[in-house]
Amino acid sequence: TFEVHIGSLQADAPGTGVVLFFRDLTSARRLEAMRADFVANASHELRTPLASLLGFIETLQGPARDDPKARERFLDIMKGQAERMRRLIDDLLSLSRIEMRAHLSPTQTVDLASIAAQMVETLSPLAQERGVTIQARLPDRPTPVRGDRDELLRVAENLIENAVKYGESGGRVEVEVARIGASDGDQGPHVAFSVQDYGPGIAPEHLPRLTERFYRADVAQSRDKGGTGLGLAIVKHIVTRHRGRFSIESEPGKGARFTVTLPGAEAGRPADPM
Ligand code: ADP
Repeated sequence: TFEVHIGSLQADAPGTGVVLFFRDLTSARRLEAMRADFVANASHELRTPLASLLGFIETLQGPARDDPKARERFLDIMKGQAERMRRLIDDLLSLSRIEMRAHLSPTQTVDLASIAAQMVETLSPLAQERGVTIQARLPDRPTPVRGDRDELLRVAENLIENAVKYGESGGRVEVEVARIGASDGDQGPHVAFSVQDYGPGIAPEHLPRLTERFYRADVAQSRDKGGTGLGLAIVKHIVTRHRGRFSIESEPGKGARFTVTLPGAEAGRPADPM
């Protein structure tokens, strides 16, 4: 669908004629529909734990009023629901902050390997709790990229946390940072950050949609594991702002591999010898 505006050039101008302005309404409408969809999804996601909270409050005010055991149990559940709402709101705020900065190029230079190392350390208690071993393969030499430290920590956090959450319990997660040389059409060296797990993996029909907001391959499983469905959308937004690439590969039953490739901070200059 196009919207057409007709205007005329000034009569005294040479080469007088009619000008047609075309505006592509299809994409404008699509954008509007996406925004409305997003608000509907976000409201629904918040409403579910809220409904459950209200239900428990009523029960506590009524039937469970004099049952201390039930009260304890219900309060635990309510705390879980409130935490879920908080995670959701935090993720929604992160997404909107990243979107507001989408047009700004990051200016800091940060070492991707040290970001990976920091996040592996931060998440090792969670991994231990779930019986998962995280193996880090990090280069000896710095791997500078132009980026925002907090945002890249967030990328590492979301990917490693997912691998621990969805990977096999008792299994292992491999985190790797490596310098890679310039490839077709790219200028200068790149740095790749990848996270591999050996869990159930992801069926091919889900792969292209995983970075959409609130898209989950398995809704019940994601909720069960405390997921908001926004983690990979956040990763994708951050990587895009960093002019990087994000890829997901998976062989169902054998695990999944998530890779972020960012231009090295010395992009444009010849690659250093490895
Ligand atoms: P969530 O908060 O649900 O984890 P994400 O955006 O982080 O949301 O991930 C989207 C979906 O991708 C998840 O719900 C899950 O179905 C799938 N997923 C993400 N990481 C993995 C993984 N390592 N293994 C299998 N499935 C995964």
